[in-house]
Amino acid sequence: MSADPHRTGPHFEGLAGTVVHDEVIPARAPWSHQVKAGETLRIVDLEGNQAVDFLLYSAADDAERYSAQDTVAAQGNLFLREGTVLRSNEGRPMMTIAASAIPYHDTIGGACSCESNTLRYGHHTKAQHACVENFLEANLWDGRGKRDVVSNINFFMNVPVEPDGSLGIVDGLSAPGLTVDLKAEMDVIVVVSNCPQINNPCNAFNPTPVSMIVTSA
Ligand SMILES: [Zn+2]
Repeated sequence: MSADPHRTGPHFEGLAGTVVHDEVIPARAPWSHQVKAGETLRIVDLEGNQAVDFLLYSAADDAERYSAQDTVAAQGNLFLREGTVLRSNEGRPMMTIAASAIPYHDTIGGACSCESNTLRYGHHTKAQHACVENFLEANLWDGRGKRDVVSNINFFMNVPVEPDGSLGIVDGLSAPGLTVDLKAEMDVIVVVSNCPQINNPCNAFNPTPVSMIVTSA
């Protein structure tokens, strides 16, 4: 039995190794953290229906970063599932989805921005905080700028693809306490926007905190 109640309980179930990092990202906030090769990052959707916008950069050279196109092309499928290898713009494995409590995650819906909010939802949304600002803030801590914000992953976001190829952004697949586990295949910098969107169902119109747990190899 551990004396630390935060390191037992359902959010830690099934995780091997030692907890080396454990942090809650508040609703609407940016986050960045380095995860070393062999470590596992668990994202916990604490209250359910929370989209976690997600980017990866190689810690050795951040010109190498997550590529939705390389990831989708290599696996021949649009959805990110258990077993999906998240690949870089050089085709190399960055992280693998080791486990997922929901059937699939999105990598085509993109990140919300003030500009896209204004187009989709009206000019009154211009001042609302958005994922692009979060990505920019977290990237600036390491000296990266707008040109480094590439197409991202949306963990726990439900973007179904219809038979005619059209996309939706519909109510989430997630529920309180559900998790996704990502094993690092190289040293990576993880950049997250805990999505502040309140104009569509990706966060159930109510952004909430998520938990980030890193365990050693
Ligand atoms: Zn967003």
